[in-house]
Amino acid sequence: MRSWSSVAVPALKRSIKFPQLSLTNSKSLTKELVGQKETYRMYVCGITPYDATHLGHAATYLTFDLINRYLRATGSHVLYVQNITDIDDPLLERATRDNLNWEELALSQIDLFRGDMVDLRVIPPAHYIGAVEAIDLVSEAVSALQSKGTIYSIDQDLFFKNYSSPDFGSLSLLDKESMKEIFSQRGGNPTLVGKIDPLDCLVWMAKRENEPGWSSIHGVGRPGWHIECTAIALKYLEPLDSDKTCIDIQGGGSDLIFPHHEMCASQAHVLTGKDLAATYVHAAMIGLDGEKMSKSKGNLVFVSKLIQAGTDPMVIRFALMSQHYRLDRMWTDELLLQATQRVNQIRKALASGVVAPTESVIEQIVTALSDDLDTPSALAALDQWACQTLDAGTGGDAQELSTVLDALLGLAL
Ligand code: ZN
Repeated sequence: MRSWSSVAVPALKRSIKFPQLSLTNSKSLTKELVGQKETYRMYVCGITPYDATHLGHAATYLTFDLINRYLRATGSHVLYVQNITDIDDPLLERATRDNLNWEELALSQIDLFRGDMVDLRVIPPAHYIGAVEAIDLVSEAVSALQSKGTIYSIDQDLFFKNYSSPDFGSLSLLDKESMKEIFSQRGGNPTLVGKIDPLDCLVWMAKRENEPGWSSIHGVGRPGWHIECTAIALKYLEPLDSDKTCIDIQGGGSDLIFPHHEMCASQAHVLTGKDLAATYVHAAMIGLDGEKMSKSKGNLVFVSKLIQAGTDPMVIRFALMSQHYRLDRMWTDELLLQATQRVNQIRKALASGVVAPTESVIEQIVTALSDDLDTPSALAALDQWACQTLDAGTGGDAQELSTVLDALLGLAL
């Protein structure tokens, strides 16, 4: 599938020193240094296109954009792949509810998503792969799991035995009862009659009446969600035999840890004998005015609507970065107002002919980002520099600081 338009990233001065990046690995719940590599392989789960990009999505993709930008700035290459679940139950349910053609609904929301990513200056993935275009790939992955004796059928549907991987459960660290409960809330069906284990997941769903289906060696149907990501990641990220894990970073929102990423890891382990990722990174959730933001509550704030209403995308980006990516946080009018004021102040400072020294603020920004993407500290250092500049500070290079903000924080101010 066509990715979104590329975002220009300016080159940085060679003299800037980049400490090794550390990220909190959801698997160990500790900050770990990301090993130095020439090429990093990063997979981030994409949207199901029944709705446009809400602020929770935006916060997630910004998090991985910061990782992408930092690793590139160190001189490495980042091979970045994202999927789009352009066929799944929620999409069909929304299309039925709104009396729309599911394909047209998906295409319209994918277009909005692409526009939002460009407006927010998120670097596009090298491969942006839809579930529909990956059907052959998924079918092959299901066959490979089948040849390892890990697949069984209930009627015409195929299920994967998650406990085939000795590591199953090691990412989410949940007890089985909690897993069953969450699985049930997030599209699984632990009580389905015929299941060998309640946590086994659907990998191929036979065509239902009035629903689309595609021909495959497993009959006419469509892919399950978890195997879609596993198959796309293992194909398009071109894992190296010499690497200890299939890929370097797997990411998404924290609501994907279980069941989605746990089950992807289990499938990848059975297929390759290795852990799927060296580091699992998860961005926390964004709420609205004290409440969880969710489609069921009907309180989602959409990026495209904010921008249409005149909000500067750079202010949205700044507001989302003003708190740490691992912190569940609230979106409020106050947050937006503060971000607007801070961005205005920084713009004013950058536009001054003479500015306060920039070498140390650049070092502070780089150091903060290297420490598990500490954007609040990076932006606080920037505020301080803007104050010094507007207080008649001298001796800095505004152009150089602008370039750093653009390249590392994605802020074109
Ligand atoms: Zn995924």
